[in-house]
Amino acid sequence: MRKITVIGTGYVGLVSGTCFAEVGNRVICCDVDRNKIERLRRGEIPIYEPGLEELVAKNMQQERLYFTSEVGEAIEASDIIYIAVGTPMSDTGEADMRYVMSAAKKIGEHLNNRKIIVNKSTVPVGTAELVREVVQANKKYPWITFDVVSNPEFLREGSAISDCMNMDRAVIGSDNAEAAKVIAELHAPFNTRIFTTDLESAEMIKYAANTFLATKISFINAIANVCERVGANVIDVAEGMGLDSRIGNKFLQAGIGYGGSCFPKDTYALAHIADKAGYDFELLKSVIKTNQRQRFIIMDKLRESVGGLAGKQVAVLGLAFKPNTDDMRYAPSLSIIPELLKQGASVRAFDPIAVESARRELPHEVQYFKSVEQAVAGSDVCVILTEWKDVLDMDLDLIRQIMKHPIVIDGRNCFDLQTMQRSGFEYHSIGRASVN
Ligand code: NAD
Repeated sequence: MRKITVIGTGYVGLVSGTCFAEVGNRVICCDVDRNKIERLRRGEIPIYEPGLEELVAKNMQQERLYFTSEVGEAIEASDIIYIAVGTPMSDTGEADMRYVMSAAKKIGEHLNNRKIIVNKSTVPVGTAELVREVVQANKKYPWITFDVVSNPEFLREGSAISDCMNMDRAVIGSDNAEAAKVIAELHAPFNTRIFTTDLESAEMIKYAANTFLATKISFINAIANVCERVGANVIDVAEGMGLDSRIGNKFLQAGIGYGGSCFPKDTYALAHIADKAGYDFELLKSVIKTNQRQRFIIMDKLRESVGGLAGKQVAVLGLAFKPNTDDMRYAPSLSIIPELLKQGASVRAFDPIAVESARRELPHEVQYFKSVEQAVAGSDVCVILTEWKDVLDMDLDLIRQIMKHPIVIDGRNCFDLQTMQRSGFEYHSIGRASVN
């Protein structure tokens, strides 16, 4: 049993803290957001993540998991301090490091015994050194020593708990073998492979992995755009490519591009890191550009299908950046919906989970509905932005009957062409022929 404090109780901090508790450690999750901590103490989970509520309740009850907004006290009470605060995109596209730096300062001020400081946030290469300097500069007791380890997070929202319990690998970067061993042991109860390296490489692995996945998405989207022009079907193309074990079949779903709290900011951040290091990462810049363009391809299809959007009712199915999360950060809906409104359409939106977060981000004109059927009723066209189960399972016959015009623009390739043809829809998707 180890005493662990996790600074930052967001998607990553809350999930990984809870998983560390689940395998027998005593974990304190702390956050500067008092409201979040109050809610957690009452057993309310501030984010939507399947299975998390039960796991948090169980570990609180068994007195392994605690929540506090007293960050300093939480630091003093543990030997291993995880930093899991946000590193959002700044105005320049670089990672905004102010939260990591403020956590590091706090650790320095409350360093009351020898501790291992582990960085889980996604951070530019060199951050471990910066954290070390900031902790060192703010130490109250100069004689107390500490180690800094990098242990980036790879969980995916929507399947975060099982990802945490069964990671493909735990990357541990350190310049101290003893500290690395302690963090490796912490991962022993998880079904994972440990990969140890130096600090800089560990920090780089996270960016390289995320930007590689983003590259796969932009690549298949570009292939989809060519498929449309030459009469090929991107679903078959991706399947045929994916059968090659060197390529693999994951991350080859063509659509409206990646969103979420990681890929957009991490691609920008790595492009900046490369620029600063004197390397023009043209490939990555193209990945970003391809992704930005991809979401507007759907706008062209929408406009053409209804002959101009002014005065049209558009049903938008799905607002979150992917299914099984309420995370709206950089969701394609955030760029597409304002554009629809700007072009004079009215928007009837459905999302099973993300409406509360969406309301904070989207213009007030958007109307929200509790079911797919209510959203599409009377609409001129329906556009699918997230492949929620409610969308995949929708009753196509009923939908056709209640829409004003049975036109579906599918940004996620949810349906096969024959089904849509048989059901009597005009159907436009990504990288495949249109059906009338
Ligand atoms: P988040 O925004 O959901 O949560 C961050 C939390 O940190 C917030 O609750 C905030 O109040 C708190 N915080 C900020 N400054 C603090 C401070 N000084 N002291 C205490 N708490 C503080 O962020 P997230 O999605 O959990 O991401 C955290 C990090 O993990 C980021 O670097 C992100 O890139 C990385 N990451 C995220 C995911 C993901 O799917 N969300 C996956 C892998 C890695």
